[in-house]
Amino acid sequence: MPTTLLPPAVTKARFQTYAFYLVSNLVALLLVVSTPNTRLWSGSKVANDQSTSALNGEALAELLVSTVASWVAYWAVQGSNPGYITEKHVEEIKAVEEGGMGRGVDEIELITGDSRSDCRGDIEMRRTGRGGGAGEEEEGEGEGVGGNDNLEGRLTWHGGSELGDTYKGYLRKPCTKCSFSPPLRAHHCKVCDRCVATFDHHCFFINTCVGERNHCRFLLYCFFQACATWVAISVVNSGHVPAKHIPKASTWLEKNGMVVVSSLYVWPLALFSTVMFMVHLGLAVSNTTTFEVSGGSDKVDYLSGTKECDLPFSKGLDGNLKLFCCARDAAWRLVSGDEESRWIPIVWRAPKRIIRDSEDWWEHPWENKYWSCC
Ligand SMILES: [Zn+2]
Ligand SMILES: [Zn+2]
Repeated sequence: MPTTLLPPAVTKARFQTYAFYLVSNLVALLLVVSTPNTRLWSGSKVANDQSTSALNGEALAELLVSTVASWVAYWAVQGSNPGYITEKHVEEIKAVEEGGMGRGVDEIELITGDSRSDCRGDIEMRRTGRGGGAGEEEEGEGEGVGGNDNLEGRLTWHGGSELGDTYKGYLRKPCTKCSFSPPLRAHHCKVCDRCVATFDHHCFFINTCVGERNHCRFLLYCFFQACATWVAISVVNSGHVPAKHIPKASTWLEKNGMVVVSSLYVWPLALFSTVMFMVHLGLAVSNTTTFEVSGGSDKVDYLSGTKECDLPFSKGLDGNLKLFCCARDAAWRLVSGDEESRWIPIVWRAPKRIIRDSEDWWEHPWENKYWSCC
């Protein structure tokens, strides 16, 4: 996997990160395998307190396949490029946006989905102070969006003057560390010391930033890790000897001691990976990020004026999943070998308005006329 663009904080600790992960996995495997009377040992349910040591091939295959799958998923995301933005990327975006020049025009239009002319109209209105003739469609106004033919609402939503003169509707205010204005939804990661496109969070467990280019791989890793730990739990649980099969109550711990120890190790891992999978699946289908959800409109400048469930970048359920799985993650470009030269950050744009009472629940599954998710 190319590491040329990875920051020192990630590359230096790469060996330790792998080693920590493998050791913690091997400890889990060792505990599971050494737990007696489980279904991993085919003779585990033999009566008269006798058990054989023959391995059950099916249970062993389940355990090994799920563990190896989680290792592969870990390898695929650990140390991957989350979408580090360089000045070249920003110049390229500007060339495309302002001059119709540069590489990746089709790609940008495909991904952002919003009409470029509409976006330009917004900017023009802001500069000249004209408020009329917006030609808005359907649905009513929400809080903070409206007034003066939507001009005020738009400015509020965009963060108004806080964003400064460099704001062009698709760039954030300049990053003081990188000295350029990254695209909307990008954020400067303090650990990596780089701006990351569609920043989600810096994960210390994998010692890698999670952003536009590897969020899907991170979700897959959480899924496979959860599967592996639940398989381990099912094996460990099968070794539990019920009290009615134990003649003397005082020997319960003797019979179930390893089940307890293994459970104490594996259960927290299973719960953590499952919660992580559920959370990031939620972020994927709603096209939002940990950074945006945790910061909210108070801390994230470009969310200014939004409410908790507005999800301004959502393209509907299927659109969000398509974006998340296909357009955002660039894993497939690793095969072509020139991923760095071809990748360009997604140019997110603020929507013209926030719709909160739509009748189209498919396009607005989170907040519509019929229900609200929060
Ligand atoms: Zn930066
Ligand atoms: Zn980072």
